[in-house]
Amino acid sequence: MPKDKLFGKTLDELIVVTKRAGMPGFAAKQIADWLYKKEIQAIDEMTNLPKKTREILSNDHEIGLSDPVSFLQSTDGTKKYLFKVLNNKFIETAFIPDDDRATICVSSQSGCKMGCIFCMTGKQGFQGNLSSNEILNQFRSLPEFRQLTNMVYMGMGEPLDNLSEVLKSLDILTSDWGYAWSPTRITVSTVGLVDTIKEFLEKSRCHLAISLHSPFDDERKMLMPVQKTNTVSEVLEIIRNFDFSRQRRISFEYILFEGINDSPRHVKELARQLNGIKCRINIIRFHQFTGSDLKSPGMKAIIAFREALNEKGIISTIRSSRGVDINAACGLLSTLRQNKT
Ligand code: SF4
Repeated sequence: MPKDKLFGKTLDELIVVTKRAGMPGFAAKQIADWLYKKEIQAIDEMTNLPKKTREILSNDHEIGLSDPVSFLQSTDGTKKYLFKVLNNKFIETAFIPDDDRATICVSSQSGCKMGCIFCMTGKQGFQGNLSSNEILNQFRSLPEFRQLTNMVYMGMGEPLDNLSEVLKSLDILTSDWGYAWSPTRITVSTVGLVDTIKEFLEKSRCHLAISLHSPFDDERKMLMPVQKTNTVSEVLEIIRNFDFSRQRRISFEYILFEGINDSPRHVKELARQLNGIKCRINIIRFHQFTGSDLKSPGMKAIIAFREALNEKGIISTIRSSRGVDINAACGLLSTLRQNKT
């Protein structure tokens, strides 16, 4: 029987563990301290717990950290790590240094159900949800862990399709008993799942990025099959009706595809749909991969698109491409590795 992993458990879950082991209530907070503040590797290092208690705990628990199995480094400093997860698949984690920021991009699922046609992970299909342990292990076991300033849930998988484990990981990252990060340092990216987006907004104060990619129903359906059951208008309705007085940023991700979603007609419709929503658009350059006919417009056209949106009053920025030489597109590296095993 594999041992139960302590790392990745919330304070409430640790209380259950301590009760079961016959430990006093305050021991859960002590264990959280060892796990998330003192960064221990073994239960025996929890020296303020009696030796006997540590032995009882070790019988069926372990810390549960695992190092990446390999990595690639780009000429621009970006690194892409592969972690092995419980279902014997590989997930990707990116480390992106940029001046005084160091961002980690984590995966929330192994594979993905959403099937976006511009994404290699979508082509892998779905293999399983990551546990809070597997999500946070990417953060804690990253060799650059101590340099990290920001975190984005933009790797493999759809975070709102694995909401309970994602919320647990965010709880650990942002609680005083955990890593005590400000929620403003964390962004969760979603295709916009109608059933779970409201729950996310109610339970987390982290930033939200919604993948838009087209303001037109048919076009978005072609790019992102999720549009068939979760339309952008439904998502925008939820955003419009939510009270955003608490600090939080909403942004929209927009990958530009030549001849598909890059015309003045798109700018006009984006401005109409986002009217009244305090938000920004991140324009992303598409990096072509084998087997995809989609292409990115040239840089001049990308800048013109940004300017046209800005003129309509929508704050828009172009996200710089990072790690292009190491298959930075989500899912490429793990697909190659999965095909080898
Ligand atoms: S872009 Fe994101 S949601 Fe779409 S298939 Fe890829 S991982 Fe899934």
